[in-house]
Amino acid sequence: MEQNVPYKIYLDESELPKAWYNLRADMKNKPAPLLNPGTLQPMTFDELTPVFCEDLVRQELDDTTRFFEIPEEIRQFYKMYRPSPLTRAYFLEKALGTPAKIYYKFEGNNTSGSHKLNSAVAQAYYAKKQGLRGVTTETGAGQWGTALSMACSYFGLDCQVYMVKVSYEQKPFRREVMRTYGASVTPSPSEGTAVGRKILQEHPGTSGSLGCAISEAVEAATSAPGYRYVLGSVLNQVLLHQSIIGLEAKAALDKYGVQPDIIIGCAGGGSNLGGLISPFMGEKIQGKADYRFIAVEPASCPSFTRGKYAYDFCDTGMVCPLSKMYTLGSGFIPSANHAGGLRYHGMSSVLSQLYHDGLMEARSVEQTKVFEAAQLFARVEGTLPAPESSHAIRAAIDEALRCKEAGEEKTILFGLTGTGYFDMTAYQKFNDGQMSDYIPTDEELAASLAKLPKVEA
Ligand SMILES: *Cc1c(COP(=O)(O)O)cnc(C)c1O
Repeated sequence: MEQNVPYKIYLDESELPKAWYNLRADMKNKPAPLLNPGTLQPMTFDELTPVFCEDLVRQELDDTTRFFEIPEEIRQFYKMYRPSPLTRAYFLEKALGTPAKIYYKFEGNNTSGSHKLNSAVAQAYYAKKQGLRGVTTETGAGQWGTALSMACSYFGLDCQVYMVKVSYEQKPFRREVMRTYGASVTPSPSEGTAVGRKILQEHPGTSGSLGCAISEAVEAATSAPGYRYVLGSVLNQVLLHQSIIGLEAKAALDKYGVQPDIIIGCAGGGSNLGGLISPFMGEKIQGKADYRFIAVEPASCPSFTRGKYAYDFCDTGMVCPLSKMYTLGSGFIPSANHAGGLRYHGMSSVLSQLYHDGLMEARSVEQTKVFEAAQLFARVEGTLPAPESSHAIRAAIDEALRCKEAGEEKTILFGLTGTGYFDMTAYQKFNDGQMSDYIPTDEELAASLAKLPKVEA
Protein backbone atom coordinates (compact mmCIF):
# COMPACT_ATOMS: atom_id res chain seq x y z
CA MET A 1 0.00 0.00 0.00
CA GLU A 2 1.48 3.30 -1.09
CA GLN A 3 1.84 5.92 1.65
CA ASN A 4 2.58 9.65 1.69
CA VAL A 5 6.04 9.94 0.31
CA PRO A 6 8.50 12.59 1.54
CA TYR A 7 10.55 14.66 -0.91
CA LYS A 8 13.67 12.65 -0.10
CA ILE A 9 13.76 9.09 1.11
CA TYR A 10 16.94 8.38 3.03
CA LEU A 11 18.09 4.98 4.15
CA ASP A 12 20.31 4.94 7.21
CA GLU A 13 23.77 3.45 7.43
CA SER A 14 22.52 0.14 8.78
CA GLU A 15 20.39 -0.26 5.65
CA LEU A 16 23.39 -0.08 3.32
CA PRO A 17 23.22 -3.30 1.25
CA LYS A 18 25.51 -6.07 2.53
CA ALA A 19 25.85 -7.85 -0.80
CA TRP A 20 25.89 -6.97 -4.49
CA TYR A 21 23.32 -8.72 -6.65
CA ASN A 22 24.52 -10.62 -9.70
CA LEU A 23 21.65 -10.44 -12.19
CA ARG A 24 23.39 -12.95 -14.47
CA ALA A 25 22.53 -15.70 -11.97
CA ASP A 26 18.85 -15.18 -12.76
CA MET A 27 19.12 -14.59 -16.50
CA LYS A 28 17.73 -17.46 -18.56
CA ASN A 29 19.91 -16.56 -21.53
CA LYS A 30 23.33 -15.75 -20.11
CA PRO A 31 25.39 -12.98 -21.70
CA ALA A 32 27.82 -14.33 -24.28
CA PRO A 33 31.34 -14.96 -22.93
CA LEU A 34 34.37 -12.81 -23.76
CA LEU A 35 36.38 -14.48 -26.52
CA ASN A 36 40.11 -14.70 -27.03
CA PRO A 37 40.64 -12.78 -30.30
CA GLY A 38 43.27 -15.31 -31.42
CA THR A 39 41.57 -18.63 -30.73
CA LEU A 40 37.96 -17.37 -30.62
CA GLN A 41 37.49 -19.55 -27.52
CA PRO A 42 35.98 -18.17 -24.28
CA MET A 43 38.56 -16.30 -22.22
CA THR A 44 39.70 -18.33 -19.23
CA PHE A 45 40.68 -17.23 -15.73
CA ASP A 46 44.35 -17.75 -16.60
CA GLU A 47 44.08 -15.63 -19.74
CA LEU A 48 42.34 -12.76 -17.97
CA THR A 49 44.45 -12.50 -14.81
CA PRO A 50 47.52 -10.96 -16.49
CA VAL A 51 45.25 -7.99 -17.32
CA PHE A 52 42.70 -7.90 -14.47
CA CYS A 53 42.82 -8.53 -10.71
CA GLU A 54 42.04 -12.11 -9.72
CA ASP A 55 38.97 -11.52 -7.57
CA LEU A 56 37.55 -9.27 -10.26
CA VAL A 57 38.08 -11.96 -12.90
CA ARG A 58 36.19 -14.41 -10.64
CA GLN A 59 33.30 -11.96 -10.52
CA GLU A 60 33.55 -11.36 -14.26
CA LEU A 61 33.22 -15.04 -15.12
CA ASP A 62 30.59 -15.98 -12.52
CA ASP A 63 27.12 -16.40 -14.03
CA THR A 64 25.71 -18.44 -11.15
CA THR A 65 26.44 -16.85 -7.76
CA ARG A 66 23.45 -14.64 -6.98
CA PHE A 67 24.95 -12.50 -4.22
CA PHE A 68 28.52 -11.37 -3.55
CA GLU A 69 29.12 -10.13 -0.02
CA ILE A 70 30.50 -6.56 0.00
CA PRO A 71 33.80 -6.65 1.94
CA GLU A 72 33.77 -4.61 5.15
CA GLU A 73 36.54 -2.24 3.91
CA ILE A 74 34.39 -1.33 0.90
CA ARG A 75 31.31 -0.84 3.07
CA GLN A 76 33.33 1.54 5.24
CA PHE A 77 34.23 3.60 2.19
CA TYR A 78 30.64 3.51 0.91
CA LYS A 79 29.54 5.08 4.20
CA MET A 80 31.33 8.30 3.20
CA TYR A 81 28.68 8.96 0.57
CA ARG A 82 26.04 6.24 0.75
CA PRO A 83 23.24 5.31 0.96
CA SER A 84 22.43 7.92 -1.69
CA PRO A 85 19.05 9.63 -1.50
CA LEU A 86 16.03 8.74 -3.57
CA THR A 87 13.99 11.83 -4.42
CA ARG A 88 10.36 12.19 -5.39
CA ALA A 89 10.49 14.85 -8.09
CA TYR A 90 7.44 16.74 -6.84
CA PHE A 91 8.65 20.01 -8.37
CA LEU A 92 9.27 18.48 -11.78
CA GLU A 93 5.87 16.75 -11.70
CA LYS A 94 4.24 20.10 -10.93
CA ALA A 95 6.17 21.91 -13.66
CA LEU A 96 5.07 19.28 -16.19
CA GLY A 97 1.51 19.15 -14.89
CA THR A 98 1.67 15.38 -15.11
CA PRO A 99 -0.26 12.81 -13.07
CA ALA A 100 2.85 10.61 -13.28
CA LYS A 101 4.93 10.11 -10.14
CA ILE A 102 8.61 10.61 -10.77
CA TYR A 103 11.48 9.38 -8.62
CA TYR A 104 15.19 9.72 -9.15
CA LYS A 105 18.20 8.15 -7.48
CA PHE A 106 21.02 10.67 -7.28
CA GLU A 107 24.58 9.33 -7.49
CA GLY A 108 26.41 12.63 -7.89
CA ASN A 109 26.82 13.43 -4.23
CA ASN A 110 30.53 12.61 -3.92
CA THR A 111 33.62 14.50 -5.11
CA SER A 112 34.01 12.42 -8.28
CA GLY A 113 30.47 13.50 -9.05
CA SER A 114 29.03 10.24 -10.34
CA HIS A 115 28.10 6.61 -9.68
CA LYS A 116 31.53 5.48 -10.92
CA LEU A 117 32.96 5.61 -7.41
CA ASN A 118 30.80 2.58 -6.49
CA SER A 119 32.91 0.34 -8.70
CA ALA A 120 36.20 2.26 -8.40
CA VAL A 121 36.42 1.55 -4.68
CA ALA A 122 35.67 -2.13 -5.24
CA GLN A 123 38.28 -2.46 -7.97
CA ALA A 124 40.94 -0.61 -5.97
CA TYR A 125 40.19 -2.76 -2.93
CA TYR A 126 40.72 -6.03 -4.82
CA ALA A 127 43.92 -4.69 -6.43
CA LYS A 128 45.27 -3.81 -2.99
CA LYS A 129 44.21 -7.18 -1.59
CA GLN A 130 46.21 -8.87 -4.35
CA GLY A 131 49.29 -6.90 -3.31
CA LEU A 132 49.56 -4.88 -6.53
CA ARG A 133 51.46 -1.59 -6.82
CA GLY A 134 48.97 0.19 -8.98
CA VAL A 135 46.37 0.20 -11.71
CA THR A 136 45.99 1.81 -15.12
CA THR A 137 42.82 2.94 -16.80
CA GLU A 138 41.26 5.19 -19.39
CA THR A 139 38.86 8.02 -18.82
CA GLY A 140 36.66 9.94 -21.22
CA ALA A 141 34.89 12.88 -19.66
CA GLY A 142 36.96 12.27 -16.53
CA GLN A 143 34.45 10.94 -14.01
CA TRP A 144 35.86 7.44 -13.96
CA GLY A 145 39.46 8.62 -13.67
CA THR A 146 38.48 10.92 -10.82
CA ALA A 147 36.60 8.17 -9.03
CA LEU A 148 39.49 5.76 -9.46
CA SER A 149 42.05 8.30 -8.25
CA MET A 150 39.98 8.80 -5.08
CA ALA A 151 39.71 5.06 -4.49
CA CYS A 152 43.43 4.47 -5.17
CA SER A 153 44.56 7.19 -2.81
CA TYR A 154 42.34 5.69 -0.10
CA PHE A 155 43.95 2.27 -0.50
CA GLY A 156 47.49 3.55 -1.23
CA LEU A 157 47.74 2.43 -4.86
CA ASP A 158 49.43 4.14 -7.80
CA CYS A 159 46.90 5.28 -10.41
CA GLN A 160 47.77 5.95 -14.08
CA VAL A 161 45.02 7.47 -16.16
CA TYR A 162 44.91 7.75 -19.97
CA MET A 163 42.50 10.56 -20.68
CA VAL A 164 40.85 11.04 -24.08
CA LYS A 165 42.77 13.98 -25.54
CA VAL A 166 39.76 16.18 -26.28
CA SER A 167 38.61 15.90 -22.66
CA TYR A 168 42.13 16.40 -21.34
CA GLU A 169 42.18 19.74 -23.12
CA GLN A 170 38.57 20.74 -22.44
CA LYS A 171 38.41 19.64 -18.81
CA PRO A 172 41.59 20.79 -17.09
CA PHE A 173 39.84 20.90 -13.73
CA ARG A 174 38.97 17.21 -13.89
CA ARG A 175 42.63 16.53 -14.54
CA GLU A 176 43.61 18.59 -11.51
CA VAL A 177 41.18 16.76 -9.25
CA MET A 178 42.81 13.49 -10.31
CA ARG A 179 46.29 14.89 -9.71
CA THR A 180 45.22 16.18 -6.32
CA TYR A 181 44.35 12.59 -5.40
CA GLY A 182 47.79 11.51 -6.62
CA ALA A 183 47.00 10.07 -10.06
CA SER A 184 49.16 10.66 -13.15
CA VAL A 185 47.16 11.74 -16.18
CA THR A 186 48.30 11.28 -19.82
CA PRO A 187 46.41 12.60 -22.86
CA SER A 188 45.48 9.75 -25.24
CA PRO A 189 46.55 8.81 -27.82
CA SER A 190 50.09 9.33 -26.52
CA GLU A 191 53.60 8.64 -27.78
CA GLY A 192 54.24 6.60 -24.62
CA THR A 193 52.73 3.32 -25.82
CA ALA A 194 53.17 1.31 -29.02
CA VAL A 195 49.44 1.30 -29.69
CA GLY A 196 49.24 5.06 -29.08
CA ARG A 197 52.04 5.69 -31.59
CA LYS A 198 50.31 3.46 -34.13
CA ILE A 199 46.96 5.25 -33.74
CA LEU A 200 48.70 8.65 -34.03
CA GLN A 201 50.40 7.52 -37.20
CA GLU A 202 47.14 6.33 -38.76
CA HIS A 203 45.01 9.25 -37.53
CA PRO A 204 47.27 12.27 -37.08
CA GLY A 205 45.60 15.04 -35.09
CA THR A 206 42.90 12.70 -33.69
CA SER A 207 41.12 14.01 -30.59
CA GLY A 208 41.12 10.48 -29.24
CA SER A 209 38.40 8.10 -28.13
CA LEU A 210 37.64 5.81 -25.23
CA GLY A 211 38.55 2.85 -27.41
CA CYS A 212 42.06 4.28 -28.03
CA ALA A 213 42.61 5.12 -24.39
CA ILE A 214 41.60 1.60 -23.33
CA SER A 215 44.21 0.11 -25.67
CA GLU A 216 46.91 2.33 -24.18
CA ALA A 217 45.94 1.63 -20.59
CA VAL A 218 45.92 -2.13 -21.20
CA GLU A 219 49.36 -1.97 -22.77
CA ALA A 220 50.68 0.11 -19.86
CA ALA A 221 49.32 -2.38 -17.31
CA THR A 222 50.58 -5.52 -19.01
CA SER A 223 54.06 -4.12 -19.59
CA ALA A 224 54.73 -3.03 -15.97
CA PRO A 225 55.14 -5.53 -13.10
CA GLY A 226 52.64 -5.17 -10.23
CA TYR A 227 50.05 -3.38 -12.35
CA ARG A 228 46.64 -4.38 -13.64
CA TYR A 229 44.10 -2.67 -15.81
CA VAL A 230 40.72 -1.57 -14.50
CA LEU A 231 37.66 -0.46 -16.46
CA GLY A 232 34.84 1.80 -15.31
CA SER A 233 31.92 0.39 -17.26
CA VAL A 234 30.81 -2.31 -19.72
CA LEU A 235 32.23 -5.32 -17.82
CA ASN A 236 30.05 -7.73 -15.84
CA GLN A 237 31.98 -6.98 -12.63
CA VAL A 238 31.18 -3.27 -12.94
CA LEU A 239 27.46 -3.95 -13.31
CA LEU A 240 27.71 -6.20 -10.27
CA HIS A 241 29.20 -3.39 -8.13
CA GLN A 242 26.68 -0.90 -9.47
CA SER A 243 23.80 -3.13 -8.36
CA ILE A 244 24.06 -1.19 -5.11
CA ILE A 245 22.18 1.64 -6.88
CA GLY A 246 19.20 -0.56 -7.66
CA LEU A 247 19.25 -2.38 -4.32
CA GLU A 248 19.14 0.90 -2.40
CA ALA A 249 16.50 2.37 -4.71
CA LYS A 250 14.32 -0.69 -4.27
CA ALA A 251 14.75 -0.71 -0.48
CA ALA A 252 13.77 2.98 -0.32
CA LEU A 253 10.70 2.50 -2.55
CA ASP A 254 9.65 -0.62 -0.66
CA LYS A 255 9.56 1.42 2.57
CA TYR A 256 6.69 3.41 1.12
CA GLY A 257 5.05 0.61 -0.80
CA VAL A 258 5.94 2.19 -4.14
CA GLN A 259 6.34 0.01 -7.22
CA PRO A 260 7.71 1.72 -10.33
CA ASP A 261 6.11 1.03 -13.70
CA ILE A 262 8.91 2.45 -15.84
CA ILE A 263 12.63 2.45 -15.00
CA ILE A 264 14.89 4.66 -17.08
CA GLY A 265 18.64 5.13 -17.28
CA CYS A 266 21.19 6.65 -19.60
CA ALA A 267 23.44 4.15 -21.31
CA GLY A 268 27.07 4.67 -22.26
CA GLY A 269 28.68 1.34 -21.45
CA GLY A 270 25.66 0.33 -19.42
CA SER A 271 26.91 0.22 -15.84
CA ASN A 272 24.57 2.63 -14.08
CA LEU A 273 21.57 1.35 -15.99
CA GLY A 274 22.58 -2.25 -15.36
CA GLY A 275 23.02 -1.51 -11.67
CA LEU A 276 19.78 0.42 -11.32
CA ILE A 277 17.61 -2.17 -13.03
CA SER A 278 19.28 -5.30 -11.59
CA PRO A 279 16.93 -6.16 -8.71
CA PHE A 280 13.86 -5.11 -10.68
CA MET A 281 14.93 -7.05 -13.77
CA GLY A 282 15.60 -10.05 -11.54
CA GLU A 283 11.94 -9.91 -10.42
CA LYS A 284 10.73 -9.51 -13.98
CA ILE A 285 12.72 -12.50 -15.19
CA GLN A 286 11.40 -14.61 -12.31
CA GLY A 287 7.84 -13.50 -13.06
CA LYS A 288 7.43 -11.84 -9.65
CA ALA A 289 6.67 -8.36 -11.00
CA ASP A 290 6.57 -6.51 -14.28
CA TYR A 291 8.42 -3.35 -15.22
CA ARG A 292 9.27 -1.46 -18.39
CA PHE A 293 12.96 -0.65 -18.72
CA ILE A 294 14.25 2.06 -21.05
CA ALA A 295 17.89 2.62 -22.00
CA VAL A 296 18.55 6.12 -23.31
CA GLU A 297 21.52 6.84 -25.54
CA PRO A 298 22.75 9.81 -27.58
CA ALA A 299 21.59 10.01 -31.19
CA SER A 300 25.23 10.67 -32.07
CA CYS A 301 26.38 7.34 -30.57
CA PRO A 302 23.40 4.99 -30.95
CA SER A 303 24.80 1.55 -30.05
CA PHE A 304 21.48 -0.08 -29.13
CA THR A 305 19.17 1.61 -31.57
CA ARG A 306 21.35 1.49 -34.68
CA GLY A 307 24.20 -0.83 -33.78
CA LYS A 308 24.63 -4.51 -34.53
CA TYR A 309 24.51 -7.39 -32.02
CA ALA A 310 27.83 -9.02 -32.76
CA TYR A 311 31.22 -9.91 -31.39
CA ASP A 312 33.48 -6.88 -31.48
CA PHE A 313 36.62 -5.52 -29.91
CA CYS A 314 36.19 -3.49 -26.73
CA ASP A 315 38.96 -1.11 -27.84
CA THR A 316 40.20 0.65 -30.96
CA GLY A 317 43.65 -0.94 -30.85
CA MET A 318 42.07 -4.43 -30.91
CA VAL A 319 44.20 -5.69 -28.03
CA CYS A 320 41.26 -6.55 -25.75
CA PRO A 321 39.05 -9.67 -25.82
CA LEU A 322 36.01 -9.79 -28.07
CA SER A 323 32.66 -9.10 -26.46
CA LYS A 324 29.26 -9.88 -27.93
CA MET A 325 27.31 -6.68 -27.69
CA TYR A 326 25.36 -4.03 -29.52
CA THR A 327 28.15 -2.12 -31.20
CA LEU A 328 28.82 0.57 -33.77
CA GLY A 329 32.24 -0.94 -34.53
CA SER A 330 35.38 -0.44 -32.44
CA GLY A 331 36.63 2.26 -34.82
CA PHE A 332 33.53 4.40 -34.32
CA ILE A 333 34.26 7.86 -32.91
CA PRO A 334 31.31 10.17 -32.31
CA SER A 335 31.30 13.55 -34.02
CA ALA A 336 33.44 16.18 -32.29
CA ASN A 337 30.43 18.41 -31.61
CA HIS A 338 28.92 15.76 -29.35
CA ALA A 339 29.18 17.20 -25.85
CA GLY A 340 27.23 14.87 -23.68
CA GLY A 341 29.44 11.90 -22.80
CA LEU A 342 28.19 8.34 -23.43
CA ARG A 343 30.71 8.09 -26.27
CA TYR A 344 31.55 4.40 -26.07
CA HIS A 345 31.05 2.37 -29.28
CA GLY A 346 29.69 -0.75 -27.56
CA MET A 347 27.49 -1.80 -24.66
CA SER A 348 27.54 -4.16 -21.70
CA SER A 349 27.02 -7.75 -22.81
CA VAL A 350 24.46 -8.24 -20.00
CA LEU A 351 22.32 -5.34 -21.21
CA SER A 352 22.85 -6.37 -24.82
CA GLN A 353 21.43 -9.81 -24.08
CA LEU A 354 18.46 -8.36 -22.16
CA TYR A 355 17.73 -5.96 -25.01
CA HIS A 356 18.11 -8.73 -27.56
CA ASP A 357 15.65 -10.86 -25.56
CA GLY A 358 13.08 -8.05 -25.57
CA LEU A 359 13.27 -7.50 -21.82
CA MET A 360 14.36 -3.89 -22.22
CA GLU A 361 13.64 -1.03 -24.63
CA ALA A 362 16.07 1.54 -25.98
CA ARG A 363 15.74 4.96 -27.53
CA SER A 364 18.11 7.64 -28.69
CA VAL A 365 17.81 11.37 -28.07
CA GLU A 366 19.45 14.42 -29.63
CA GLN A 367 21.71 16.51 -27.47
CA THR A 368 19.85 19.83 -27.77
CA LYS A 369 16.74 18.06 -26.46
CA VAL A 370 18.86 16.57 -23.70
CA PHE A 371 20.12 19.97 -22.60
CA GLU A 372 16.59 21.42 -22.69
CA ALA A 373 15.60 18.72 -20.24
CA ALA A 374 18.71 19.39 -18.14
CA GLN A 375 17.89 23.08 -17.94
CA LEU A 376 14.30 22.49 -16.87
CA PHE A 377 15.40 19.94 -14.29
CA ALA A 378 18.05 22.26 -12.83
CA ARG A 379 15.56 25.10 -12.58
CA VAL A 380 12.79 23.18 -10.87
CA GLU A 381 14.55 20.43 -8.90
CA GLY A 382 17.63 22.48 -8.01
CA THR A 383 20.31 19.94 -8.93
CA LEU A 384 22.54 20.70 -11.93
CA PRO A 385 22.61 17.37 -13.78
CA ALA A 386 25.46 15.84 -15.76
CA PRO A 387 24.77 15.80 -19.51
CA GLU A 388 24.91 11.99 -19.42
CA SER A 389 22.27 11.82 -16.70
CA SER A 390 20.17 14.30 -18.63
CA HIS A 391 19.52 11.67 -21.30
CA ALA A 392 17.53 9.82 -18.64
CA ILE A 393 15.84 13.06 -17.56
CA ARG A 394 14.79 13.65 -21.17
CA ALA A 395 13.16 10.24 -21.43
CA ALA A 396 11.54 10.54 -17.98
CA ILE A 397 10.02 13.89 -18.97
CA ASP A 398 8.81 12.47 -22.28
CA GLU A 399 7.19 9.53 -20.50
CA ALA A 400 5.61 11.86 -17.92
CA LEU A 401 4.18 14.04 -20.69
CA ARG A 402 2.80 10.95 -22.38
CA CYS A 403 1.09 10.07 -19.07
CA LYS A 404 -0.37 13.58 -19.02
CA GLU A 405 -1.86 13.13 -22.48
CA ALA A 406 -3.22 9.70 -21.65
CA GLY A 407 -4.31 10.66 -18.13
CA GLU A 408 -2.22 7.83 -16.67
CA GLU A 409 -0.77 7.82 -13.18
CA LYS A 410 2.35 5.81 -13.91
CA THR A 411 5.30 5.72 -11.54
CA ILE A 412 8.63 6.49 -13.16
CA LEU A 413 12.06 5.88 -11.64
CA PHE A 414 15.21 7.18 -13.28
CA GLY A 415 18.89 7.23 -12.49
CA LEU A 416 20.41 10.68 -11.98
CA THR A 417 23.98 9.53 -12.33
CA GLY A 418 25.96 12.70 -11.69
CA THR A 419 26.41 16.43 -11.36
CA GLY A 420 27.15 18.78 -14.22
CA TYR A 421 29.74 20.98 -12.49
CA PHE A 422 32.53 19.90 -14.81
CA ASP A 423 30.45 20.18 -17.96
CA MET A 424 30.07 23.92 -18.12
CA THR A 425 31.70 24.14 -21.56
CA ALA A 426 28.81 22.07 -22.88
CA TYR A 427 26.25 24.12 -20.95
CA GLN A 428 27.88 27.29 -22.26
CA LYS A 429 27.44 26.08 -25.83
CA PHE A 430 23.81 25.32 -25.12
CA ASN A 431 23.21 28.66 -23.36
CA ASP A 432 24.82 30.51 -26.28
CA GLY A 433 22.54 28.71 -28.73
CA GLN A 434 25.55 27.12 -30.38
CA MET A 435 24.82 23.51 -29.72
CA SER A 436 23.93 21.44 -32.75
CA ASP A 437 22.88 17.85 -33.26
CA TYR A 438 24.87 15.47 -35.33
CA ILE A 439 23.33 12.17 -36.24
CA PRO A 440 25.62 9.74 -38.08
CA THR A 441 24.39 8.70 -41.52
CA ASP A 442 23.58 5.10 -42.42
CA GLU A 443 26.64 5.12 -44.67
CA GLU A 444 28.95 6.19 -41.84
CA LEU A 445 27.61 3.47 -39.57
CA ALA A 446 27.77 0.86 -42.31
CA ALA A 447 31.42 1.72 -42.99
CA SER A 448 32.26 1.29 -39.32
CA LEU A 449 30.24 -1.92 -38.97
CA ALA A 450 31.88 -3.39 -42.08
CA LYS A 451 35.07 -3.67 -40.01
CA LEU A 452 33.57 -5.93 -37.35
CA PRO A 453 35.68 -9.04 -36.78
CA LYS A 454 34.34 -12.14 -38.49
CA VAL A 455 33.16 -14.46 -35.74
CA GLU A 456 30.64 -17.26 -36.07
CA ALA A 457 28.77 -17.21 -32.78
C1 LIG B 1 30.22 7.46 -17.02
C2 LIG B 1 28.93 8.08 -16.78
C3 LIG B 1 27.76 7.60 -17.38
C4 LIG B 1 27.74 6.46 -18.36
O1 LIG B 1 28.31 5.27 -17.97
P1 LIG B 1 27.48 3.93 -17.83
O2 LIG B 1 28.49 2.89 -17.63
O3 LIG B 1 26.68 3.75 -19.08
O4 LIG B 1 26.63 4.10 -16.64
C5 LIG B 1 26.57 8.21 -17.08
N1 LIG B 1 26.52 9.27 -16.25
C6 LIG B 1 27.61 9.77 -15.67
C7 LIG B 1 27.49 10.95 -14.78
C8 LIG B 1 28.86 9.19 -15.90
O5 LIG B 1 29.94 9.68 -15.32
